[in-house]
Amino acid sequence: MLGWRAARRPAEKARRKAATDMKYFCGCPKCTVGAVTGPLLLIAVGTLFALDHFGPYRFSQTWPILLIVYGASRALAFMAPAQHN
Ligand SMILES: [Zn+2]
Repeated sequence: MLGWRAARRPAEKARRKAATDMKYFCGCPKCTVGAVTGPLLLIAVGTLFALDHFGPYRFSQTWPILLIVYGASRALAFMAPAQHN
């Protein structure tokens, strides 16, 4: 009898193949900016929490910076030329 894992295998294989075909991160400007968005947000969150803890500003005052960082990153990714390879 096939377990649910075996039944799922073809879909899993197809997903992996699609991920490799797309080359999730190809190194062109668009992909680079897109890949850097997450880490940038994490750095911003860490900075804001550090400011909340040690600095004069509370997180409740500084959280909109996260929206600005995210928006700027998305705008850059939108404008960056795509040369997927
Ligand atoms: Zn690319």
